[in-house]
Amino acid sequence: MARLLSLRTRSPEETAQAGARLTAALEPGSVVAFQGDLGTGKTCMIQGLCRALHVRDYVTSPTFILINEYTGTLHGEAIDIYHFDLYRLRSVDELEDLGAEEYFWGCGICLIEWPEHAGNLLPASRLDVTLEHAGGDERVITVHRRSG
Ligand code: ADP
Ligand code: MG
Repeated sequence: MARLLSLRTRSPEETAQAGARLTAALEPGSVVAFQGDLGTGKTCMIQGLCRALHVRDYVTSPTFILINEYTGTLHGEAIDIYHFDLYRLRSVDELEDLGAEEYFWGCGICLIEWPEHAGNLLPASRLDVTLEHAGGDERVITVHRRSG
């Protein structure tokens, strides 16, 4: 498991910038798991990442539906982006019923909040981002590449 990034941010803007830096590590089919407590900045980081991928849609956590779909560009090519928020997921079966595996193993980019709720459906080969509160507006963010 290789560490790609480890930093401390002091504002939502800095966390969004950290998200933008992630694009360098992405390719079609990438899965990125964002793990961290409520309010650590998962959505904020995904907003920065999507902005860097030229997404024009409003990026916000999907609450009632579990997946938001956006279109962006990566390395000059159009790319589908699937933004999951699994906080309210009741079971891994429910995720399976949504056809999540088609997204996870497809050629779009999957950005997943609360990935721990996906159980063993989550591909082992992915980027793992962890966000932690570090007092006030400070957050500690680390990114690891995990290979299956
Ligand atoms: P999550 O998706 O992890 O629940 P959000 O991105 O929705 O978190 O919310 C993060 C909240 O924390 C926002 O209200 C944001 O303004 C605030 N915040 C304060 N400092 C930071 C920081 N350094 N990085 C990210 N968000 C921050
Ligand atoms: Mg969120």
